[in-house]
Amino acid sequence: MNTENLLKELNDVQREAVLHTEGPVMIIAGAGSGKTRVLTYRIAWLMLQGTDPFNILALTFTNKAAREMKERIAAVVGHSEAKNLWMGTFHSIFARLLRIDGHMLGYPSNFTIYDTDDSEKLITQIVKEKNLDKDLYKPKKILNRISSLKNNLIIPQYYDNFPELREYDEAAKIPDFKNIYTAYVERCFKAGAMDFDDILLKTNELLGTFPEILAKYQDRFRYILVDEYQDTNHSQYIIIKALANKFENICVVGDDAQSIYAFRGANIRNILSFQKDYPDCQIFKLEQNYRSTQHIVNAANSVIANNRDQLKKNVWTSNETGEKITIYKALNETEEAHYIAERIMERHLTYQMPYSDFAILYRTNAQSRALEEQLRRKNIPYRIYGGMSFYQRKEVKDLLAYLRLAVNPHDEEALRRVINYPARGIGQTTVERLTILADQHNTTLWDICRNAINFKNELGTAPAQKVSDFATMITEFGVRARRESAWDAAEHIFKASGILRALNDDKTEEGISRLGNVQELLNNIKSFTDTQLSLEENNDISLDYFLQDIALLTSTDQQDDGEPNKVSLMTLHLAKGLEFPVVFISGMEEELFPSSQMVNTRADLEEERRLFYVGMTRAKKKLFLTFTHMRMRYGKTNDCEPSRFLDEIDDQYTELILPAFHRSQPTFLSGPAWGAGPANNHSSGPFAPIGTSRQKTPHLATRPSSTASNALPPEKPQGEILTHTVPGDRVFHEKFGYGNVLEVEGSGVNVKATVAFDQAGQKKLLLQYAKLIKV
Ligand code: ATP
Ligand code: MG
Repeated sequence: MNTENLLKELNDVQREAVLHTEGPVMIIAGAGSGKTRVLTYRIAWLMLQGTDPFNILALTFTNKAAREMKERIAAVVGHSEAKNLWMGTFHSIFARLLRIDGHMLGYPSNFTIYDTDDSEKLITQIVKEKNLDKDLYKPKKILNRISSLKNNLIIPQYYDNFPELREYDEAAKIPDFKNIYTAYVERCFKAGAMDFDDILLKTNELLGTFPEILAKYQDRFRYILVDEYQDTNHSQYIIIKALANKFENICVVGDDAQSIYAFRGANIRNILSFQKDYPDCQIFKLEQNYRSTQHIVNAANSVIANNRDQLKKNVWTSNETGEKITIYKALNETEEAHYIAERIMERHLTYQMPYSDFAILYRTNAQSRALEEQLRRKNIPYRIYGGMSFYQRKEVKDLLAYLRLAVNPHDEEALRRVINYPARGIGQTTVERLTILADQHNTTLWDICRNAINFKNELGTAPAQKVSDFATMITEFGVRARRESAWDAAEHIFKASGILRALNDDKTEEGISRLGNVQELLNNIKSFTDTQLSLEENNDISLDYFLQDIALLTSTDQQDDGEPNKVSLMTLHLAKGLEFPVVFISGMEEELFPSSQMVNTRADLEEERRLFYVGMTRAKKKLFLTFTHMRMRYGKTNDCEPSRFLDEIDDQYTELILPAFHRSQPTFLSGPAWGAGPANNHSSGPFAPIGTSRQKTPHLATRPSSTASNALPPEKPQGEILTHTVPGDRVFHEKFGYGNVLEVEGSGVNVKATVAFDQAGQKKLLLQYAKLIKV
C-alpha cells in the first residue's frame, strides 16, 4: 500500500491524528472508533516517512494485538522493516529490556519469571517457615497485596513510610505482612527470579537509578505509542513518562468508558495526569463508530449514560440500523447454552457464517462449562480463552520446571517442584533440611544441593548422595541449555530427567493424555526453534528465550492453536479490543453480572457497567443478551433476577424472546416485565424471532415466587435423541416437555409417534424432526 492509499482509509480526524506525529498526543475516543487503527497507521506512516523502526516503541494490551498490528504494518512497509519494531505488552517489552540491562540491579540475564502459581507457592512456604496462621495468611490474599504495593512502587523498605499500610494490614488481620513481603522479595532475588509485577517495578528501578541507561532508552525510543491507555497502572505510567521525557513524542489512545482493570491497579486518573504532564498535548476525539450497527451503538450509549464518572463523548455511527438486540430469558444455564448453540448453528447454516464470527462472553470462567457442553453436542468447534491454560497443566509445568532449572538452577520454585519428581528417594524431610541449611548459610537451595556431599552429617549419607546426583544431572542440563537449541536441549532433558519413562509407565487414560500434553509442549518448542529464525530480528533459539516467551503469554494469547474456524469463548475482561460479527453475553443476572462483589460502591458498580459496555461494543452486527430464571451456582440451584443492566438499555433497541416452554406454561407468566411479557410466538426461523417490546418495571418485581419455580418442569434430561421408539416409552420433547408414547406408525424417514404430553396434551410428531429424548 502506498502513502496515499494509507491515508484514504482514514476519516478526517483519524488522518489528522496520524499525521500529527511530533509532540504529545492523546486520543480519547469511544469504542470501535478506530483508536487501534490510528495507532497502527501512525506507525506505518512514521516508517513511510523514514523513521527507523528501531526508534519506535508500541505498547499493546496483549501480544496477540501486537502481532496483528505488526502484520498490518508489515503489509504497508514490508516484513523485514516491521520486524525491527519493539511492539508488545508492557511485560514482554520490559522483560526484554531487563534481559539486556537487569544485571545492573544484580539479576542474571537469564532470570526466571515466576507465574502466579510459583509466587503463591513461595508465599505458602514462607508462611510455613514463619509459623504463621495459613488461614489468615492466604497466599492469594498476600500476593494481591504485594502486587498492589509493587504496582504503586512501594518496596518493603518504604512500607514504614506509610502508616496507613500497617493500619490496613492490621485491620485485615495480617500484621506480619511486611515480614512476608520482605522475605518474598529476598527469596525471589536470590532465586534470580522476577514475578510479573517485578518486571515493571525493576524497570522503574533501573531507569530511576541509572541515568545513563535511561538516556540510552530515551534516545532509542523517539516515538512511543500506547494502546488501551485507560488500563495502565501507576508503575506503567511512570515508565512511559520517564522514557518519553526527552522527545515527548508520545501518543496514548484509550477510552475512559472501557476502563475495566481497576482491581488490578489500573488507574483511570492516568488520563487526567497526561494532560497535566503535557499541558501542550494535542487531544483528538474520535466519535464515529465504524464497528457496530446503529442499534448496538445506541444501546451501548444508553447503558454507559448511567455512569456519573465519565468524559463526555458522543459516539455515533453511519452504519446500518441493523437487527434489534435480542434479550432471551432462559429457564436455566443448560437451556441458555442450548439456545445460544442453536442460534450459532442457524446462522452458520443459513448464512454460511464461519464459526469464528461468533463470540460468547461471560462474567466468570465457571459459566463456560454449560456452554461447552451444548456446543459439543452440536459439534460446533470452539476455543476457550483464559481459564486453565495449557502451560498451567501439572505435567507441562513439571517438564518446564526442568527446563527452567537448566537455564537458572537457583530457581527455587522449579527446584522444589522436581527435586523428587520423578521419584528419586529425596523425601520431604530432606527438602526441609536443605531449606534450613540454605537459610543458615544465607544461600540458595541450589547451592546446598550441589554441595550436598559436604552436608552428609546434616542430611544423612544416602540422601546427600541422591541430592548430589540430582544436582549433577541439572548441571549437565545447564551445559546443554547453553550450547544447544531449545529443541535439542528440551528433547534430551525430557528423556534424561526420567519424565518420559514416568509418563510412559502410566497406562491410565489420564496418563496417556498427560504424555500427549508433554509431547505437545515439545512440539511447541520444536516449532519455536524452527520459526524463530524467520520471524524475530534477533534469531534467538535458546531455551532461555523460549521460556521467556511463554512466561509472558497473556490469557488471550494462550491456546491460539492456529485453527481459525472456531467460536470464541471468553470472559468479558478478555474481550477488550476485539470484535466479532455476532456476540452473545450470557448470564445477564443480578449477583452474577453485576457481580455481587461489585455492587456495594458506586465506583465498583460503574466499573462493572463499563465492563458491560465493553461487552456490548464487541458486536458488529448482532448482539444477544441472555439470562436465566434459575442457575446452578456452588452446587445449588438458585432463583435469579435479571441484571439491572438490562433495564438500562433503551427499549427501542431490544426485543425480548421467551423460551418455547414459557408459552405452554402461561401460569408462570404472572406480572409484567422480564419474567413475563405476553406469551409470544417464538419463531423457529433464524433471523426473525418475533419478540415483544418489553415493559420496564423495577426488576425486583420480577423475581419468580418459589411456587412458580416449582411449576417448572425439570431441566432437559441428558440422553440420546431417539431414532426409533415404541409405545410406552417415556420421552422428553424440547417444546412440549415430558410425555408417554402412545402409538408409532410409518417407516423409514416417515416414522410418526403419537405422544401424550403431561402438559401440552396429545401430539403426533415426525420422529426425524421431533428430537425426542428417552428418559
Ligand atoms: P476499541 O475501543 O474496541 O478498542 P477502537 O477504537 O480501537 O475500538 P478499532 O478496532 O481501531 O477501534 O476499529 C474498529 C473497527 O472499525 C475496525 O474493524 C476498523 O478496521 C474499523 N475502522 C476504523 N476506522 C475506519 C475507517 N476510517 N474506515 C473504515 N473502517 C474503519
Ligand atoms: Mg482498540
